[in-house]
Amino acid sequence: MKTILTGVRANEEPTIGNFLGAYMPMINLAHKHATDCNINMFVPDLHSFTTPIDHSKLYAQVIKGIKYYMAAGLDTDNPNVHIYRQSHVPAHSELAWILDCFTPFGEASRMTQFKEKSEEHHDAITVGLFNYPILMAADILLYDAEYIPLGEDQFQHLELTRNIAMRMNNKFETELFTIPAPEKEQVAFMGLDKGLRIRSLTEPTKKMSKSSNNEKSKISLNDDPAEAKKKIMSATTDSEGVIHFDMQKQPGVSNLLMIEALINNKPLEEVIAQFDGQTRYGDLKKQVAESVSNFLTSFQAKVASISDEDVENVLEKGEAYANEVANKKLYEIQKQVGVRK
Ligand code: ATP
Ligand code: MG
Repeated sequence: MKTILTGVRANEEPTIGNFLGAYMPMINLAHKHATDCNINMFVPDLHSFTTPIDHSKLYAQVIKGIKYYMAAGLDTDNPNVHIYRQSHVPAHSELAWILDCFTPFGEASRMTQFKEKSEEHHDAITVGLFNYPILMAADILLYDAEYIPLGEDQFQHLELTRNIAMRMNNKFETELFTIPAPEKEQVAFMGLDKGLRIRSLTEPTKKMSKSSNNEKSKISLNDDPAEAKKKIMSATTDSEGVIHFDMQKQPGVSNLLMIEALINNKPLEEVIAQFDGQTRYGDLKKQVAESVSNFLTSFQAKVASISDEDVENVLEKGEAYANEVANKKLYEIQKQVGVRK
């Protein structure tokens, strides 16, 4: 049985960018492949402090992250659905070390996200920030995962994962690792024509990021719905004066059109047809503000209905499974690198 796998870091409150770009594609796939694939949705909690965080809040944030997966519609009664924390499956960190030693420094240095993030956090550039794509490779390769629903910003890391896996397979002349599908196939598997990228509300040429310090740039999943409406109403647009879907020329309005479509599960063409050629940006903003606010109200009610105990039950089952699969794989890898017989 093939494995579909994804995770959302628990460093900060997730945004609608994470929801629309990572949670929803995964949950749609989990429904579509409920009986023919393993669905691994984990919280990469060890990735959460590659940049500085308040550690006293992390544990609660991780538990909340799992409630979010459940509230988004992941069917935890399905025996093929596995929810776990990275930190509770020690094989992830152990494999990361091994993969480190098969990753040329030059190749890891080309990761654009590291360059961007180290500009943003120039006072705290850790080895962990540099190394995180390799831990991510371990997250994927331990489970022989083929499909990894990701936002557009993560495809370079996926390519790195593929390269490491292919290099090690060649070196050891065995099919040690399943090679995850390349970007084009991943995107097609998600039913898209390219990776999703929800833009910042204040700087629509950039992506919306949960770690951004600018509250107005993002809609967080725990935002007060009325506040979220205001953020949409004051989103940066352009001075073209006519609405067209054009991410190059009009990234602000195009982003709003995209949010409107994705959040209501409507075809983008339908939303474009409704607004194309109109001149009143306010009408578009009002409709999107309403959609986002309705979404937050209903999502937050679902989150509130899930107890910590529900989460613990799900984790107990998920982590037992994950440790079994991951340890078996790690054992094979340890034999290949010569530390086990
Ligand atoms: P951070 O700023 O902490 O890196 P992030 O918002 O980029 O936060 P990640 O935890 O790095 O979130 O990514 C989790 C998942 O969400 C990944 O699959 C990523 O591609 C996806 N994702 C993140 N931001 C967006 C976005 N703006 N649009 C679509 N998908 C996104
Ligand atoms: Mg990110």
